Amino acid sequence: MADWGMMDKLYATGCAAKEENYLLRWQDGKQIGVRCGSQWATSKFGYPWHVMHRAEYQRILAEEARRLGTEIRLGQDVQSVDCSDETPTVHLAHGETIVADVIVGADGLRSVVRTSVLCYVKEPEESGDLAYRVTIPRGDLLNEADPFIQGALHGKTNAIWWGENMHVVLHTVRGDEVVNLVLVCPDDLPAEVAKQPGDFAEMRRLFEGWEQRLYTLLGKVHQALKRKIWGMEELETWTKGSVALLGDACHPSVPYAASGAAMAVEDGAALGRLRGHFARDERDKKHLPHLLRLYESPRKDRTTTVVRSATDNRELFHMVDGPRQQERDRLLRAHDWSDESRSFPWGVADLGFMHELFGCDTLASADAAFARFQQPR
Ligand SMILES: Cc1cc2nc3c(=O)[nH]c(=O)nc-3n(C[C@H](O)[C@H](O)[C@H](O)COP(=O)(O)OP(=O)(O)OC[C@H]3O[C@@H](n4cnc5c(N)ncnc54)[C@H](O)[C@@H]3O)c2cc1C
Repeated sequence: MADWGMMDKLYATGCAAKEENYLLRWQDGKQIGVRCGSQWATSKFGYPWHVMHRAEYQRILAEEARRLGTEIRLGQDVQSVDCSDETPTVHLAHGETIVADVIVGADGLRSVVRTSVLCYVKEPEESGDLAYRVTIPRGDLLNEADPFIQGALHGKTNAIWWGENMHVVLHTVRGDEVVNLVLVCPDDLPAEVAKQPGDFAEMRRLFEGWEQRLYTLLGKVHQALKRKIWGMEELETWTKGSVALLGDACHPSVPYAASGAAMAVEDGAALGRLRGHFARDERDKKHLPHLLRLYESPRKDRTTTVVRSATDNRELFHMVDGPRQQERDRLLRAHDWSDESRSFPWGVADLGFMHELFGCDTLASADAAFARFQQPR
């Protein structure tokens, strides 16, 4: 977003850089560790660590796309695509067909474009977890004296409570006007149900015995959405002819690295950059399938690494109480976040891995891929 000069627009929506991210014990709220925040991230990776509301982010991207001349048609149900090299075609449910130079399937977890690319239906896998997603308006918490809750309302605090087979994430969005909670627990939805309105009394019962501050927050919740969490193994390919996949269509993940949407945006940035180079280079359209494979190769490596880290985080966050959990907590309490020479057994605090995760320059890697493409004419 900084490369496109759009940070000010994001900040205007209440997008904020956060300084503190507490890792807390489920039972008593004791601090297991504090993940370093934005100043530290800027010093290490060149950018702060932002939290923003996804609807605002999407709106800003859509407005910019329209400003640049993109026509956005809503309510178009794609049934399938033909993955030809030179005339890839979209088939819409109402019978219309659209022929394009390139088709990008950014159609999420149950992507129909994926089916056309792979030539078979690849179903996502149940992760065994579900998430309750709840929000609390700032006004409902203003009278809470607790400094931790007040810290959250003043943009300072993010927190994750780690518990047995469950965890809870707290942050604020929209300029601290809304507290957002994601509560992850074992999945009890029937196999065929992906989401349903959550029973908040049932949700509170699930978190009985968790520390008081969390329980105070849950007491303010009157609505909850309950949603199954899915994952998928790495696909063998993301492209066929002049059709490519992007985002959850090709790398859905458990959300425990908070990176699914971020990776989708990176995919889009890489693809756009490559397509721009291709146009400026006045390449013949017949090379577009090759260009898409250039997009796929670095993006597949990158997203597979991030998806694995999210899966590892599930094990880390959900440890049952006992010697392993005590060792985890001891290591985190003793961890020095500034010591580049020391590795850490978990990616969440390993500086080498964090450089890979947060220091990745998507546009530079697209430029490098295109430079390789240019060599043999
Ligand atoms: C509990 C939870 C918490 C998360 N937290 C984070 C986080 O903190 N940070 C983060 O980066 N990510 C997070 N994610 C992940 C993130 O939500 C997804 O990775 C992201 O939404 C993927 O974006 P996408 O555009 O690829 O797919 P989607 O957001 O699923 O969008 C796909 C679009 O395609 C449309 N579509 C589907 N099929 C068709 C069709 N046949 N015809 C036409 N249109 C179609 C859909 O209507 C939809 O608009 C979280 C996910 C969950 C479940």
